[in-house]
Amino acid sequence: MKLCRFDHDRLGVVVGESLRDVSAALDVLPQVRYPLPQVDPLIAHLPQVREAIEALLPTAPFHPLAGAHLLSPVANPGKIVAAPVNYRRHLEEARMQAEIHHDQQVQEIQKIGLFLKATSSLVGPSQGVALQHLDRRNDHEAELAVIIGKEGRDISREDAMQYVAGYAVGLDMTVRGPEERSLRKSVDSFTVLGPWLVTADEIADPANIDFWLKVNGQLRQSANTRDMVLDIGALIEFASSFYTLHPGDILLTGTPEGVGPVLPGELIECAFEGIGQIDVKVRAAGHSE
Ligand code: MN
Repeated sequence: MKLCRFDHDRLGVVVGESLRDVSAALDVLPQVRYPLPQVDPLIAHLPQVREAIEALLPTAPFHPLAGAHLLSPVANPGKIVAAPVNYRRHLEEARMQAEIHHDQQVQEIQKIGLFLKATSSLVGPSQGVALQHLDRRNDHEAELAVIIGKEGRDISREDAMQYVAGYAVGLDMTVRGPEERSLRKSVDSFTVLGPWLVTADEIADPANIDFWLKVNGQLRQSANTRDMVLDIGALIEFASSFYTLHPGDILLTGTPEGVGPVLPGELIECAFEGIGQIDVKVRAAGHSE
């Protein structure tokens, strides 16, 4: 099932080329009051929501997919976990280019571990990316996003895939510079998730997905998820040995070689086979275009 959030927090299901409005399925979610749970309620109750959607689908109104304003399919992640240098050839390019490494030694992921991105950096593809530091290089990073479906800690690599609710296309936008990754990758709008969440049952082999990223029609990144240094299971094992994973947590699995700068006015297109494509406009912060 392909689940999206669109327009003013409508819930949609993508069936072929059409979008069906199934917002009424959200009625199955429990009413919450302060203090709010540290999970995404929709992901935490995905089986119940899916059941409600199946009942609604025969009569669910159609909505043109082309005109839909796509938001992040996960509204309230508790955390966004990200993997640095998780593709061998990106490690090599990061070590070669001073503009990327800024005189810091680029270490392997097994040594430096994972990092967190601010949840306030999360947007959907239709919201676009707003660059704050135009005097610096701002890079695109195409990444498979894994959405955690149930709570767990000390999860073994062998059990890890049972904890996956689904997948989405992710962009881990980055302003280059000497500061910690977490700061440079947490600028507002620097985590893009979309176009929808594809439930795990629809992806036969997440370790064999072709993907690409273009800027203004020019191919910048092209790879397959099989080239990850730590695969999805190993990343979940690593992350959950430090902190409990919760439903709705997002795991960005790292980017392959070909990262490069984007400028206001440019268009990023990024597609993962079997998931979908996001089209993301880049603008200067404070400007609408
Ligand atoms: Mn990244």
